[in-house]
Amino acid sequence: MGVEWVLVCHGLVTLLVVISFLCGQWPIFQGTFVERIHYFLTGGFYDYLLRLVDSLCGSRGINAILSVEYFCYHRPNPILQLIYVAILGATYYFAVKSSFSYIPGYYLGGSHRYISLVAVCIGVVLFILTCFSDAGTVNTENVSQYLSAYPYDNILYSEKECSTCRITKPARSKHCSICNRCVARFDHHCGWMNNCIGERNNRFFLAFLLWHFLLCIYGTAAIGLILAGRLVDFKVIHILTVYYGIENSFLSLAPHVVQWLLSSYNTQILLMVFLAIVSLLLAGFFGYHAHLCLTNTTTNETFKWQDYLSWQRKLKEAKASAEALKAGSRERKAPQSKWKSFFRRSPLEDAEAVVKTNMYDKGWVRNVGEILHPLSTRQSFRRSKVHIN
Ligand SMILES: [Zn+2]
Ligand SMILES: [Zn+2]
Repeated sequence: MGVEWVLVCHGLVTLLVVISFLCGQWPIFQGTFVERIHYFLTGGFYDYLLRLVDSLCGSRGINAILSVEYFCYHRPNPILQLIYVAILGATYYFAVKSSFSYIPGYYLGGSHRYISLVAVCIGVVLFILTCFSDAGTVNTENVSQYLSAYPYDNILYSEKECSTCRITKPARSKHCSICNRCVARFDHHCGWMNNCIGERNNRFFLAFLLWHFLLCIYGTAAIGLILAGRLVDFKVIHILTVYYGIENSFLSLAPHVVQWLLSSYNTQILLMVFLAIVSLLLAGFFGYHAHLCLTNTTTNETFKWQDYLSWQRKLKEAKASAEALKAGSRERKAPQSKWKSFFRRSPLEDAEAVVKTNMYDKGWVRNVGEILHPLSTRQSFRRSKVHIN
């Protein structure tokens, strides 16, 4: 099989895996192999592994697997951090090895040899900042300041004590069972960072996502420009149209150009496809977190809001149904015209009107300000301790 066919198969398999992983649970894929791949990737694989180990090694094998799982998922560990470093290092290594000999090229200046290195180093610095900075640990020293900085909304948060840390939990904080500490304005525990994402390091995390998204776009565009430069250097279009007599139009030339690129620059094409897919994933992830930042919500709170709103909706529906039953019995006594009852709003429609009242949302400008300049780094925060004590 030719190299180009291997690359086409690789691209299709990667696309299938990404689509199955991200969208396999959608109703449109119900009962298809995409749904089965999704199940396999999101837990099914682990079930099969457990069953296999159980049949081969019995309970000792299962216990070994469960202790590895406990170490990987429930204890702080640097496995994903090392994988990040390996992916970044390998991608940069292959980019340098395959493409630096063509810089400077027709479309790309020589400065990009250094710009790319600086861009990667900035990415690593943001990674280190997110991994090793304090996420906003709540302790006996600063709990009073956090309590005054984040008032209880009495919807999602009310005064409670953390049973492990034995301190009052400030609103928006959560006890992370992996790090074993309470974290202010808790977003989530990030395995890639081996750290919680909270009040103090959310800004580094957002910067990390945005920078790596831009880095992938930059890498894809730079390799694309190198390949475009090679087309010009070898006068490929000229040769194809003059010597091979191919019509000088995009549709006629494109398959021949793609075939030439795949056979001569397969590593670069592979890198471009990989960077483009990762940039899409990062764009989605950054978009989600940027939306949370603009609305002053955390990942932890989106789940809490979902639970709260569905509970409120059910409560309203139950009330509306009870009222509809009462009204129904009254209507039997005084019958309404057919037209009137046809256009009357269903009592259940009112139940849909449950709104989220997030008291921490102070308008997007102040919300962004709170991420960039966390409350606990402000003068007013330090003063509030003196005031309370
Ligand atoms: Zn705690
Ligand atoms: Zn944590």
